[in-house]
Amino acid sequence: MPALRSVVGTWRKVFCASVCGALLACAVSWAAVCPICLQQIPDGEKYCARHKAEMLAETLTAQEEQKLADDAMRARADYEAKLKALEKYYEGRGNAERLNQVRKELKEGEEARHFVYVHWEDGLPELSAKADVPEAFQLLKEADATRTAMNPLTRGDRYKEAAVKYQQILIKYPNSTAVDSAAFGLGEIYSSGIVGEPARAVKLYKLAYLANPNSSHDAAYRAAQVCDSDLSEYDHAAYYYWLAAKTSKSFLTRKQAAFRLGQLQKKGFGASYSLDEKSPEPASAPAAK
Ligand SMILES: [Zn+2]
Repeated sequence: MPALRSVVGTWRKVFCASVCGALLACAVSWAAVCPICLQQIPDGEKYCARHKAEMLAETLTAQEEQKLADDAMRARADYEAKLKALEKYYEGRGNAERLNQVRKELKEGEEARHFVYVHWEDGLPELSAKADVPEAFQLLKEADATRTAMNPLTRGDRYKEAAVKYQQILIKYPNSTAVDSAAFGLGEIYSSGIVGEPARAVKLYKLAYLANPNSSHDAAYRAAQVCDSDLSEYDHAAYYYWLAAKTSKSFLTRKQAAFRLGQLQKKGFGASYSLDEKSPEPASAPAAK
């Protein structure tokens, strides 16, 4: 999962910036914290300087990947069109042997696996739960009702239907107050056994958390659980448990996150993520994979 690794890996590099942030603290007025490393940041900023730069770099990387994937898809479509032209040519000439060959090649092309390298959520603008948008709220209400309905027999269809609506919210209304819930709902769908795409689920949980770090959804904790149980990415899990233990609105979640973080640390994962308020902020996160 290189995409996930690069994303979360970058998050883990954050802590190196902590000390510099602390040294600068006396010169500026601090109003909030960076949601990724929880370091204090100046008024009007959303991320610390390091994370701002890393988020921008991630966007540029995603754009480059999208362009390369689009180029490959166009080349494939062009190749198929040219083979079909050749098929037509041999049909017209009555050349049975070559017609047979080109048809075999076309068939093999159709049967070959075509991967989706870049998912739609990788091209989203930055999400921010700021504005009340009635259309987004309505879509969210419908999608939540569809996703959480009781009948387990219809779960597959319901998840598909709900996912389309959540996706619409994120694409059409990226600044609406529905975005964190929509991204969280998609995370729940992707992490479910029916869909089984845990790496994408973690990405969606991350988007949900960043869109609204004060949300009542336990997006960081769910990201931790999926990294822990489904992906066996224990350093990443430790980071998200640390974040959940520090930021969750739920006392129980904070306790559970702290407990599991402690267990992982005993096994040597996420040693730098300390919950001790008196200890210095983590400055030696493991190197990104
Ligand atoms: Zn930061």
